[in-house]
Amino acid sequence: MSELNIFLGPPGAGKGTQAIKIAEEFGLAHISTGDMLRNHISNRTELGKIAKSVMDEGHLVSDDLVIKMLVERLGSDDCKNGAILDGFPRTLPQAKSLEDIKNEFPVDKVFVFEVDEKELVQRILSRGETSGRSDDTVESIKVRFEIYTQDTEPLIDFYNKQDKVLKINAVGEIDLIYRNIAKHFN
Ligand code: ADP
Repeated sequence: MSELNIFLGPPGAGKGTQAIKIAEEFGLAHISTGDMLRNHISNRTELGKIAKSVMDEGHLVSDDLVIKMLVERLGSDDCKNGAILDGFPRTLPQAKSLEDIKNEFPVDKVFVFEVDEKELVQRILSRGETSGRSDDTVESIKVRFEIYTQDTEPLIDFYNKQDKVLKINAVGEIDLIYRNIAKHFN
């Protein structure tokens, strides 16, 4: 049995930064569906070709494709001790896909990153200057926030009903935020 911990929050909330640190410290796999999709784009795979324009506009890649990619990834050896899911699930069908594999990969906790939107736009725009991510533009960010509110935020309620939600104040020192998350892994 390999437990999954989900990092959920709006774009720019710092999920990736924290997920990398937690995964390393606790020997878990770090699975970022955004990174995986960007790899597909760099490698010019079929999936990458489909994903590129959708991602640049800030829309979501289709559930079928992302679920398939994620489930395949969970089959790797490095997921045996469990994994941090960074950016998945983002929709109700994606969350339900995890219910189908819950005997092998049960969801343990869902960390909800809380940051206000003004701070987020600033963070993403300055990230875009250095990361060169082609979706870190004002137009795409607007769409990503709308989609977050519409499709992803309802998952908080979904997991609240299962008593799995932990709210994390994601504003402030990276190390302080890290310690607030890490204490739940000991
Ligand atoms: P951010 O959280 O800043 O939006 P991500 O790297 O998590 O960055 O995601 C970038 C893009 O990748 C998303 O806008 C979306 O197009 C695509 N993507 C990532 N994860 C998923 C997912 N679970 N379902 C659908 N699309 C996804």
